[in-house]
Amino acid sequence: MRKSFAHSFLALAMTCCGLFASGCGVVTGDEDDEIVGADERVSRSEALTKNVPVGSKLRTTTGLNLRSGASTSNKILLTMPAGSLVTVRQSAPKNGFYAVRYGNTDGWAHGNYLVEVSSGSGATGTASNKAVKIQGPKVRAHVQAFANAACSQIGCPYEIGTRNGHDPTADRAIDMMMAKYGTKPKDGGAHGTKIANFALKNDAKYKVMYVIWQQKINSNDGRGWRLMADRGSITQNHYDHVHVSFDP
Ligand SMILES: [Zn+2]
Repeated sequence: MRKSFAHSFLALAMTCCGLFASGCGVVTGDEDDEIVGADERVSRSEALTKNVPVGSKLRTTTGLNLRSGASTSNKILLTMPAGSLVTVRQSAPKNGFYAVRYGNTDGWAHGNYLVEVSSGSGATGTASNKAVKIQGPKVRAHVQAFANAACSQIGCPYEIGTRNGHDPTADRAIDMMMAKYGTKPKDGGAHGTKIANFALKNDAKYKVMYVIWQQKINSNDGRGWRLMADRGSITQNHYDHVHVSFDP
């Protein structure tokens, strides 16, 4: 996973995001970031076992299977990445599993690897925002704070990273993956749109400069979303990740 992620960003480095960059490299074809679901059968003291409110959010602490029923003998519908947010459908767990919704998929996920997310009041940037890992060179504090807030409040289903050569600089830009590298999100981009809107709404707080998502750029300067030239691939056209650039 770590290796393939580094690989993904190497490929991103050759293709992605430079607002004024025109010479985009060739995307390498090797991408295999299969997520492996953690073993639900182990006994963990930190497991979530209590009743939780229907409609509240839980976060996965590792790659976690979403199953068709409340048992390890039930089919794995999909495997959620660490840090995914799911919505609770039934208050009480059954056999250790919680009935949850992930994206548009209903299933069961084991409490071993779920934690409660403070529902919050809708206020942004609370002190409880958990620090998220940003791959690559170190970013500025307000960039990290933005990622923490966005991921705590909306959820970051895939990796986040930056790189040397990122526009405007490595420490003032992040790519937030919304799908497996090189593929379009299964939710049609709904989650990425939430992230993009969060960035635009909180631009003053986190010094957001511009956002690129689904081949459109928004500089929050009153011009709205503007279509960008077709650069070729899903990654180059920002269908698999949201790019956010920041002021100093
Ligand atoms: Zn980027």
